[in-house]
Amino acid sequence: MTSAGTEANIQSRLFINGEFVDARSGETFVTINPATEEKIADVASAGAADVDAAVRAARAQMEPGSEWQKMKPRDRAKVMWRLADMLMAGAADIGRIETLDNGKPIFESQFVDTPSAAECLYYFAGWSGKVGGETLPVAENAFTYTLREPVGVVGAITPWNFPLMLAVWKIAPALACGNTVVIKPASNTSLSLLKFAEYAKEAGLPAGVLNVVPGKGSVVGNALVDHPGVDAIAFTGSSEVGRGLMARAAKTLKKVSLELGGKSPNIVLADADLEAASRGALNAIFYGKGEVCAAGSRLLVEESVHDELMAKVIDRASKMVAADPLHPKTRLGAIVSKEQMENVLRYVEVGKAEGAKLVAGGERTDIGTGKGYFVKPTIFDDVTPDMKIAREEIFGPVLATIRFKDVDDAIAKGNATVYGLAAAVWTRDVSKAHRVARALKAGTVWVNTYNLYDPALPFGGFKESGFGRDQGRDALDKYTQTKSVWVNL
Ligand code: NAP
Repeated sequence: MTSAGTEANIQSRLFINGEFVDARSGETFVTINPATEEKIADVASAGAADVDAAVRAARAQMEPGSEWQKMKPRDRAKVMWRLADMLMAGAADIGRIETLDNGKPIFESQFVDTPSAAECLYYFAGWSGKVGGETLPVAENAFTYTLREPVGVVGAITPWNFPLMLAVWKIAPALACGNTVVIKPASNTSLSLLKFAEYAKEAGLPAGVLNVVPGKGSVVGNALVDHPGVDAIAFTGSSEVGRGLMARAAKTLKKVSLELGGKSPNIVLADADLEAASRGALNAIFYGKGEVCAAGSRLLVEESVHDELMAKVIDRASKMVAADPLHPKTRLGAIVSKEQMENVLRYVEVGKAEGAKLVAGGERTDIGTGKGYFVKPTIFDDVTPDMKIAREEIFGPVLATIRFKDVDDAIAKGNATVYGLAAAVWTRDVSKAHRVARALKAGTVWVNTYNLYDPALPFGGFKESGFGRDQGRDALDKYTQTKSVWVNL
């Protein structure tokens, strides 16, 4: 079956060497709208031969004299800037596609994710031509300097929770540094990136510089990791898949960067503004249906304010109702897939069986249509750090609340996880805020806020949340390599 979108403006074929094409095998897979359980499109399913064609196209643009290599860095920046402008102009369109595919509220996809992706492109366009080496004086008879060169063909693999935005977090710095990209979006949500490819072509990105190859994780992922023509793998996804991918990449000794999962602590000290902290606690776990790598999925509360804070948090959660993701007022959408919804509900049962106290939600809900994978905002209280729901990433709207005695106990409990992606602390005491921020082992720490991101600030994990940074100047390290040049004088 050839792939075809059911909505006129949907792209559902592979994007290779500047063209939308069917998979060589002709295979497709179905992508579902999780809010209606209806099919959106048959998406072309890439195999190893398609990955090979994409990598060859990307390699050709890394050759000296190719259109991409001849393009001045400033001209690369202009293309990226144009692409960002097109994203902003197309935010309603691409946002709608994202919402249909992922189930997230249109408020998020159109007004947060798409503009954030555009901002990321604007930011890294600014770096194009500013990533250079140094001249270093080492000896009288030598002229010595370094060059910062692109790493080459980047194989990127991205997850389904922020399909467009997280892909752009990889694409933008890679292009700014003069690399080419072959990217595999998550199977649940391939459509927004294919639309992005359409914009990239229109913006003037030369054919082969960006290639998008949806398809099965193991098939496309393995083909990318094994391919001798791929120089680096940039992965965002689960720790489990990341671990396997790193082991596999050892065979060809590829540069690997991993942005993985989290179980982030959101710490409320007794002196905090509890109104703001309760609002922040909801944003931390229920924004994006909790399908956020940095979600504040562990709420750590100082014992003396526990009851007061929890009353506010539960009251707010009870007012958060799932609704049609396409409605502009909706703030809680559908879980991305049936499988993920069942996974979340399984964790709810585990939490109950472990003896945690279910104080809100805990079940599937619907929006009056009898269809869709919706889960009520769920809160567990009296969770202890040894429980599974306190240790494992659920990746859904489920909050585990844990009490602590004092600041040291909060730090110890906050760090009692294999992950280290993000954390937050709520307090009015500036010394405590900085002390806790310094002591928490996490790549991002928020003070009196949650879920803020900016392209200028590096994002990534400590411990088993991965290594390498997306965003910020640090991201340039992933996509460049340094060469030292000695000239005998
Ligand atoms: P996932 O199952 O690890 O999938 C991520 C990507 O890897 C998808 O494109 C998937 O393809 C692909 N994949 C699956 N099996 C593979 C294999 N054997 N080899 C190579 N690629 C493979 O993760 P997810 O469920 O999509 O996303 C949720 C996870 O991502 C969570 O753990 C979350 O914390 C993490 N995440 C981290 C960050 C961060 O910045 N640190 C950001 C967002 C999400 P298919 O879809 O075809 O299976």
